Amino acid sequence: MKQFAVIGLGRFGSSVATALARMGCQVLAIDSDAEKVEAIMDEVTHAIQADARDEEALKAAGIRNVDVAIVAIGENVEANILVTLIVKELGVKCVVAKALNDLHAKVLAKIGADKIVFPERDMGVRVARTLAAGNVLEH
Ligand code: ATP
Repeated sequence: MKQFAVIGLGRFGSSVATALARMGCQVLAIDSDAEKVEAIMDEVTHAIQADARDEEALKAAGIRNVDVAIVAIGENVEANILVTLIVKELGVKCVVAKALNDLHAKVLAKIGADKIVFPERDMGVRVARTLAAGNVLEH
C-alpha cells in the first residue's frame, strides 16, 4: 500500500488526507496550525504540527519514506513553492502541488512538481462534464 504525506490541511488537503486514509492508505498529515492537526488526528496514520518550510522537521516526520507528497498549502504561494522544492529535494518521487494560478503552476513545474492541481478549476470541469452528460441525478 502506498504511503502519502499531505502538507496543508485546509479544505482541500484535509479532504485528500481523510479520503486516502479511508481507502486504507498510510497518511502522514502536516500543518503548522495545531487545531488543524488535532482535528484530523483520529483519521490519519500520523498527524504532525510543523512549519513545512523547516526541512529538519519534515525529515524528522519521515517525509522521505512516502511515495507521494501532496502540497496543499493555499494562499501562501511562497510557502507552497518552498515546500514543494524542499520535498522534491529530499527525494520524494512524486509531488503533487496545488496551484493558485497559471504563473504559480509554471513555477511549480520548473522546480519539479510531478502533478499540478487546481482544485476549484478541476472540480468545475468535472461538474460541468457531469451536467452536460445529463448524469446529475444518478449520483
Ligand atoms: P483550502 O482552499 O484547501 O481550504 P486555502 O487555499 O484556504 O485552502 P490555506 O488555508 O492558506 O489554503 O492553507 C491550507 C493549510 O495550509 C492551512 O491549514 C495552513 O495552516 C497550512 N499551512 C500554511 N502554511 C504552512 C506551512 N508553512 N507549513 C505547514 N502548513 C501550512
